[in-house]
Amino acid sequence: MIDLHTHTTFSDGTDSPTELINKAMAAGISVIGLTDHDSTSGWQEAINALRPGISLVPGAEISCQTEDGISVHILGLLFDENDSALAKTMAQTRENRHGRMEKIIARINQAGIDITMADVLEQLSDGATLGRPHLADALVARGVVSSRDQAFTEYLHNDSPFYVGHFAPTPEEAITAIKSAGGVSILAHGLAGSRGAIYTIDEIGELLAHGLDGLEVDHRDHDDAARNELRELARAFDVYATGSSDYHGVVGVQRLGMELTAPNVWEGILAQGTGCEVFTV
Ligand code: AMP
Ligand code: ZN
Ligand code: FE
Ligand code: FE
Repeated sequence: MIDLHTHTTFSDGTDSPTELINKAMAAGISVIGLTDHDSTSGWQEAINALRPGISLVPGAEISCQTEDGISVHILGLLFDENDSALAKTMAQTRENRHGRMEKIIARINQAGIDITMADVLEQLSDGATLGRPHLADALVARGVVSSRDQAFTEYLHNDSPFYVGHFAPTPEEAITAIKSAGGVSILAHGLAGSRGAIYTIDEIGELLAHGLDGLEVDHRDHDDAARNELRELARAFDVYATGSSDYHGVVGVQRLGMELTAPNVWEGILAQGTGCEVFTV
């Protein structure tokens, strides 16, 4: 079982890297990708937690923004964490997320909801990438909503009046940076329209023409029509079609291994990624 897209407490997941590895082993997963948002800080703990039977694919999910303001997420796998251009882009994104959070909070305060930056930071592990899910957790802690999902539906979704963006590279810049660092670039949940504005299938094709290496096809936020369109596009461009859980821990309906990547696809990714090794003990 191969699951290439997960999050931990180093971004907006609720399991530590150690818990992630333990749960993945218990779920029968043999290859697990760690892809926290804009960060590689969880890699070492995950490596330390490995036991025979499971391999770790180091990665990150790079937050991108198009010139039209569309939010796009690109998974980088097997890149060199010491590559300065990619590390710098991720650091800039992480830093900018704090000022952005202050702006979102100000807008929510204007609507009469009492929430502070301190409330939000209480939900964040040390050094983790800050995101809207932490604000969602703070709203749950304050009793404003009862779940992360409800917080997103009522207040935090991309089209809400409270939404503020943050610095992010364009998808093309992220693809170039991932590949220059020896990594493999895969578009995450490209047709997940429930989250907000998305690229058209033609625009996704343009990213493939630009060098994007693969498409996450099987994802819980894709219906059958979206999966079929993406699978067909991946076939037309002869790129990887992956599946993954995008696991965030004990939130919502997501389960480790609920969507999987085929072994032959993984073999291709493994052969292409040269920035770092797959870790095994
Ligand atoms: P941010 O990076 O701060 O813009 O937050 C984006 C993250 O919020 C995503 O990676 C998801 O983990 C989560 N998210 C986005 N949209 C939703 C939604 N509609 N419901 C629940 N979580 C969401
Ligand atoms: Zn997330
Ligand atoms: Fe994502
Ligand atoms: Fe994700």
